[in-house]
Amino acid sequence: MVRDELKIKFEDIPPEGLDVSFEDRHGDLVRDCFPVRKPIRAKVHLARWGTSVKVTGRVETELSLPCDRCLEEFPFPVEEEINVLLEPVASVSRLKEEVCLSRDDLDVIFFDGETVEVDEVVREQILLAVPMRQLCKEDCKGLCPQCGENLNLKTCDCKREVKDSPFAILKKLVVSSR
Ligand SMILES: [Zn+2]
Ligand SMILES: [Zn+2]
Repeated sequence: MVRDELKIKFEDIPPEGLDVSFEDRHGDLVRDCFPVRKPIRAKVHLARWGTSVKVTGRVETELSLPCDRCLEEFPFPVEEEINVLLEPVASVSRLKEEVCLSRDDLDVIFFDGETVEVDEVVREQILLAVPMRQLCKEDCKGLCPQCGENLNLKTCDCKREVKDSPFAILKKLVVSSR
């Protein structure tokens, strides 16, 4: 994948729009954040909207994320619809007024008005799909704070305090209020 080919001049977008699809086999687009387990495949359509560009399409890949609790890498499939409006920077003030109109389903990104960086748009959509809290599974047991054992795989003999539980403090409150 040559990223330069994904920098598209605004003036090169024909009136009927432009289809762009690409495969990023090694995940170069997000390499600085996460490794990929599957190629990034994206297919987008660029359409001029006055001086703005509407980008619609789809991106698929599978990231490898580290679990916040047990630190194991786990596969995280990404299948995102892309629905982005690129606004030229010069129209920022106008946009502020328009943004009040319901554009819930449309993300607005700014660009220089000349070059549509499809690679950056796709990259951002992938990163937005990553949750704040990354867990390999909802009930990941994490690591034992004393011996470091991955408690999903083994149990250990350490005495465990329940202070990690979000309910522990609640229990205390209930007890003291009696
Ligand atoms: Zn985990
Ligand atoms: Zn332990």
